[in-house]
Amino acid sequence: MSLISVSNLVRYYGNHCAVDNISFELSAGDILGFLGPNGAGKSTTMQMLSGNLAPSEGEISINGIDLLDDPRQAKAAIGYLPEIPPLYKEMTVDEYLAYCARLHRIENSAINEMVDQAKTRCGLMDTGKRLIANLSKGFQQRVGIAQAILHSPDVIILDEPTVGLDPNQIREIRQLIAELGKEHGIILCTHILPEVQAVCNRVQIINQGQLVYESSMSELLRKQATGSYEVAFLRSPTVGNLTCLEGIHHAEQLDEHRFLVTTAGSSVEYLVKVAVKNDWGLFKLMPHERSLEQIFIDLTTGDDETIEDAVSPENTDEQNTEEDLDAAYENAVYESLEEQGDEQQNDNKKQDPAS
Ligand code: ADP
Repeated sequence: MSLISVSNLVRYYGNHCAVDNISFELSAGDILGFLGPNGAGKSTTMQMLSGNLAPSEGEISINGIDLLDDPRQAKAAIGYLPEIPPLYKEMTVDEYLAYCARLHRIENSAINEMVDQAKTRCGLMDTGKRLIANLSKGFQQRVGIAQAILHSPDVIILDEPTVGLDPNQIREIRQLIAELGKEHGIILCTHILPEVQAVCNRVQIINQGQLVYESSMSELLRKQATGSYEVAFLRSPTVGNLTCLEGIHHAEQLDEHRFLVTTAGSSVEYLVKVAVKNDWGLFKLMPHERSLEQIFIDLTTGDDETIEDAVSPENTDEQNTEEDLDAAYENAVYESLEEQGDEQQNDNKKQDPAS
């Protein structure tokens, strides 16, 4: 059974549709990256999932319990860290967490133990007696996460948990999230791609209220492949030499030695053969990857065609058969030998003005 099941969720603010008919599931063991640019509808979705905002339409069930029918029981399975952590900064960490424990209806006799557990898991053991206002932003964020996990919920929803933190604090909070992911299902809302790459095993991209992409993290990383290679030669051929080769769709000269070539299927092997045969001095051949940022930009700013391209680079590549490539290789070597022959003849002509 899914920890969270969302179907056809819609939310309007007046006439503005902030969340437009989205459906997805969260399973045990998932750390789901919920990505989207600012204003995409992430916080609105998270507020609905955590029971803080009523949907205009759609259904949400937490651990099989309908959030709208039985909100108290459904919400007991959720821990939520909103974008602005709900901290009472004039309280000490212990006072605040004990207060949150009572809100979570933890029995009085269990409160101290639960608070200690949450503090231990969030690295707050030495801060219990300190005022929250006096803690660094990173530690305040830990207190926010501690209140979300106090009651050992099955699901933790974290909305932009690293915004405003310094790089060390970001690394520590990400480690904490990865650690929590071993025991809880997690939804991590963020607009920061490396964050998703660092901790999530699934990714979902929302844009203008709609889900535009969903896959495993490993699948998204695979989509980084572009079919292009950066190649470098000591004795560079011309762009024309490269583009006339079978299986090379495009070549662009980057500098004196380097080129970006777009190939189909196994054509890169063929390119290597030709380079060796022609003594171009190939010294670099590296897959050229589309950055995650570029995929994100394509998905969140492009039209449908761009989206298709962004996620399916292989769709655009023609796959050449091995025989095609062998035949092309023979031709290229033959042409190259012919060219050399022509040059030889020209040289001979230069030496013999009479001919
Ligand atoms: P995100 O979290 O991805 O930045 P939000 O869910 O905060 O996006 O906002 C989605 C859209 O809904 C935005 O256009 C935003 O301006 C609008 N919006 C958010 N909250 C409200 C609100 N309380 N009243 C009116 N519009 C809102």
